[in-house]
Amino acid sequence: MNDLLGRPLRNLRLSVTDRCNLRCEYCMPEEDYVWLPREDVLHFEETSALVDVFLALGVDKIRLTGGEPLLRRDLPALVRIIAGKPGLNDLALTTNGVLLAGQAEALKAAGLGRITVSLDTLQRERFVKLTRFDQLGAVQEGIASAHRLFGRLKIDTVVIRGVNDDELAPLVEYGRSVNGEVRFIEYMDVGGASRWSNDRVVSRAEMLESLRRHYGPITPVDEPGSTAPAERFALADGTTFGIIASTTDPFCRTCDRSRLTADGMWYLCLYASRGLDLRAPLRRGASVDEITALIAGGWGARDDRGAEARLALGDRRAFVPVQDLLKRDPHIEMHTRGG
Ligand code: SAM
Repeated sequence: MNDLLGRPLRNLRLSVTDRCNLRCEYCMPEEDYVWLPREDVLHFEETSALVDVFLALGVDKIRLTGGEPLLRRDLPALVRIIAGKPGLNDLALTTNGVLLAGQAEALKAAGLGRITVSLDTLQRERFVKLTRFDQLGAVQEGIASAHRLFGRLKIDTVVIRGVNDDELAPLVEYGRSVNGEVRFIEYMDVGGASRWSNDRVVSRAEMLESLRRHYGPITPVDEPGSTAPAERFALADGTTFGIIASTTDPFCRTCDRSRLTADGMWYLCLYASRGLDLRAPLRRGASVDEITALIAGGWGARDDRGAEARLALGDRRAFVPVQDLLKRDPHIEMHTRGG
């Protein structure tokens, strides 16, 4: 299943809730949010039915996300349902880690393959300022559990100028201590990033320069044919880290990701203003063939290159004005689309 630019349908980010237990300033900075109506959120059987169709059409990697996915009741039960499906090569989870220590074991037992924890700072006061919650200790406990149960993990860090751009080396060191590969993400002007501005973006070039000053030579890790968003680099001692330059050097050309929100809206690009409603046909009793045709038709017509289009704009500001769409349609939000 290729889209109009020859990109295969492979990677599905499955959001299981739009709720979150942190309020990161670059993602959910506002006081109030419009939440998805609870009755709209897909039941596990519904998610499972849609996943079957996606797998049949070529998806082989699924990442559970949110909101904060660990807030979804009985998440291990969903993991168990999905992990057992034929055709799936990779089942991963992205979490802020706050509730991970208490759930890591059940998730592992249910068949979860990999965990990525988002962590932007190792300084307690900074963590509180950035997320509005005093939970750094809980996140680090979660990371320790993931390390113990899953072995290797990933740590995703959004780098923001004047906020945490002085912590690149400490985060690499921390990653090393927990067998975690850190991936530094350029600050994106998506969804709820209403405080985004170009001058707060720390580019890949700047990150590399800062790490070179600290560690000396850094070499790119050659990964021919990789469609992963992160480019990987190695320090002289072999420690690796990644950089996702979605803002200054988008990877649209190879992007094989799509996103299903917790209420069954399917988005073909993080920047797409509209999604395809899969919940309505599902609840109307549409047949597997009908839903397959809907998804196949959507992907076949996909020509999105949202991040490149944003880059091409001269005067770039936050993607969605807060008072406008963001307040009316939760689907525009990063915490609804799953990041
Ligand atoms: N709550 C989970 C977590 O913290 O990983 C999953 C959802 S969160 C929306 C997924 C990822 O999106 C996180 O790593 C978060 O840092 C990232 N993210 C949110 N807003 C962002 C922005 N404006 N620019 C870059 N990354 C962002």
